[in-house]
Amino acid sequence: MSFALLFEGFKALTFKLDSAQRSPLTQYPKGVGAAMTLARTGSIWGATVLRRRMLVSLEIDNRDRAYDWFLGWMAHRTSSAAASASRSAPWIRSHELSVETMIERRPNGSSSVFFQLVAGPGTHWFKYKGAWMQVKRERETRSMMGGQQTGMAVPWETVTLTTLSRDRKLFPELLAEARDLGMRGQEGNLVIHTAWGIEWRPFGKPRRKRPLQSVVLEPGMGEKIEEDIKAFLARRQWYADRGIPYRRGYLLHGPPGSGKTSFIQALAGSLSYDICLLNLSERGLADDKLNHLLSNAPERSFVLIEDVDAAFNKRVQTSADGYQSSVTFSGFLNALDGVASGEERIVFMTTNHVDQLDPALIRPGRVDFSALVDNASPLQARTLFHRFYSGGTYDDIGVSELDVLAQNLQEIVEERMKSGERVSMAALQGHFIRNQPKEAVARSLDLFGA
Ligand code: ADP
Repeated sequence: MSFALLFEGFKALTFKLDSAQRSPLTQYPKGVGAAMTLARTGSIWGATVLRRRMLVSLEIDNRDRAYDWFLGWMAHRTSSAAASASRSAPWIRSHELSVETMIERRPNGSSSVFFQLVAGPGTHWFKYKGAWMQVKRERETRSMMGGQQTGMAVPWETVTLTTLSRDRKLFPELLAEARDLGMRGQEGNLVIHTAWGIEWRPFGKPRRKRPLQSVVLEPGMGEKIEEDIKAFLARRQWYADRGIPYRRGYLLHGPPGSGKTSFIQALAGSLSYDICLLNLSERGLADDKLNHLLSNAPERSFVLIEDVDAAFNKRVQTSADGYQSSVTFSGFLNALDGVASGEERIVFMTTNHVDQLDPALIRPGRVDFSALVDNASPLQARTLFHRFYSGGTYDDIGVSELDVLAQNLQEIVEERMKSGERVSMAALQGHFIRNQPKEAVARSLDLFGA
């Protein structure tokens, strides 16, 4: 019997990743006569024994992180095999590739598109460390993930890996390899998840981490937030011993373009945390789904809710197109409060109008740490100037001259501040991008509309 036939002949004995074992017995149609039944029972028994003895399968569904790791790992093998075309290269016998298009849209409207060739639905074969493995990728179109909520349903999918029982020890090795490959791709990167129905999914390509020092806040502020979160993360047991829900809420408030979002993202990156972007105005989001999302954020992630004032300033939720989401204010508070014991939850909220927030939202337990991230102070302007231009090659400018220019800028910002005029850090950054250091200082009054 050929190897392929052997595989085709028996249905897989399935182990789920969570190790909840399914019954290996499959339903067979009832026989017509006693003899037939007997024969069939005999053969089922025989097949079951053979299956048990000879084959072992591993099923991964697309709710599990291992699913993307595995497909990525297969894609990687396919491309490295094609690239090297060497006899010893790992290879996959597969004619059923499908293309996965990923589109990353940035807030400024630009976007990039990239493709990855992955094993399509169907059956594929590959050899791993000398053992043949069958991969079946199946799509269950009748049950969809997240269909009702967003209208963007994702079919339920599984991949089932089958190999000979004697090679079962290769599964953990293969999965570890796939995980390491997946994680390596994300090292030094920040992963942002968005809600897809009731699931969190990585959004776009992981972004490069932004160094924490590149976000210039008031002296000491960044460090204070960082220390607070590190202290929180070190106290899991302390919370558990006292039966206190292990959660912490942060609110960064202040005018737009002051670095709130940039800081939160840089902080997540420095702690190797992901970001889960939660948009309360999302069409179709309702209290129960919000609750589910907040309770099921991926491990090691911050939930980030931006412009929380826009969401609830009148205790009614309205999106830009006038559509009212069905999240209620009390539902939101409940979702913030409800955290399964022992589970960690870190929520960051930002707002431009802290005065418009309902006091119920900012009470301790929901917001434990609140900080004003303001327009550029004179010192921040000076530091940003330094960070921006240092190390650049501005032919006629030496280090000491750069210091003098930075000092001049600080004085100008201070002067304007006395007359109640301020500039945002984002506007300063834009100004620096457009100008050489000398011009930047000479034209800095433009920033104040003077
Ligand atoms: P906010 O969330 O406060 O509206 P963002 O973090 O979105 O502001 O900042 C917008 C842009 O301005 C980003 O490109 C960021 O690099 C820059 N920026 C804003 N504030 C700062 C800051 N304090 N330090 C460095 N860059 C900043």
